[in-house]
Amino acid sequence: MAAEDANDLRRALEKNEIIPYFQPLVELRTGLLSGFEVLARWQHPNRGLITPNEFIPLAEDAGLNGLLTGNLLRAVFAAAQDIPGHLTLSVNISLTQLTDFSLPKHIRAAAEQASFPLNRLILEITESALVANTEQAYRIATELKEQGSRLALDDFGTGYSSLRHLQSLPFDELKIDASFVRSMGHTRESRKIAAAIVGLGNSLSLTTVAEGIESQTTADMLLWLGCDLGQGWLYGRPVPPEQLPEVLAARLDPAPPIPEPRSPAADSTL
Ligand code: C2E
Ligand code: MG
Ligand code: MG
Ligand code: MG
Repeated sequence: MAAEDANDLRRALEKNEIIPYFQPLVELRTGLLSGFEVLARWQHPNRGLITPNEFIPLAEDAGLNGLLTGNLLRAVFAAAQDIPGHLTLSVNISLTQLTDFSLPKHIRAAAEQASFPLNRLILEITESALVANTEQAYRIATELKEQGSRLALDDFGTGYSSLRHLQSLPFDELKIDASFVRSMGHTRESRKIAAAIVGLGNSLSLTTVAEGIESQTTADMLLWLGCDLGQGWLYGRPVPPEQLPEVLAARLDPAPPIPEPRSPAADSTL
């Protein structure tokens, strides 16, 4: 990592250039909105929009993760003022954050300051974070759960010893990795794997979530398999906070508007 990159990120954090984007999560059976996943973006003055796969590792290396999460959560909870109370917010927790014993306290403080109830917060943890530092990670994850948030196992199927984590940690949600979901339409193997993961999640009474749904065919297959929630471009791309009202208006209104009765005069002009 170049030192100037770390300095650039430090500057970006001071200037609040790291912003939360929100991607809808939808109940497959009804199409109703169930919440949003928060996906961080760096709005760089010269380089444009930078995705998290580029700057999260940088933040980890530079020891800026705590600061990043703090800033991001403040922005998330501020934006949440516009989000109805029955919807959840999912936030990604990275590997090094699960070595930080002050993480639960920081999350609680940020939520309390914004009067955001912790039971609306879902914390997404990837398997790699659990594998890298199992004992610490388990203790921190358990504390996050005990203070009221829900836990999701993210990108399920891409790491290893996943089943052990499911047994040892009180997860609420299982997220099927997009790599299986995207290839469901093409290979029988992916369909079988997705079916097995949904079956596993259901038998453990976990909420199953499929990420990366891009087509209605895939959504239909997942619904048929018994998957609960979906996320992907079919339902909406991640949007910045200022576009939340628009997404909410479109997704919260289950019935199409009733058309105005047309007058005979108007009809005759058609
Ligand atoms: P993730 O948690 O698995 O998030 C899902 C990723 O899939 C997001 O990429 C999202 O934009 C993308 N995605 C969703 N639906 C579709 C689709 O239908 N098609 C395609 N092609 N992609 C879709 P993104 O935003 O680039 O984030 C990448 C990863 O970065 C995330 O994967 C997550 O692990 C991490 N990340 C994002 N925000 C944060 C954050 O605030 N903190 C930490 N620690 N990690 C974050
Ligand atoms: Mg995630
Ligand atoms: Mg994921
Ligand atoms: Mg993923």
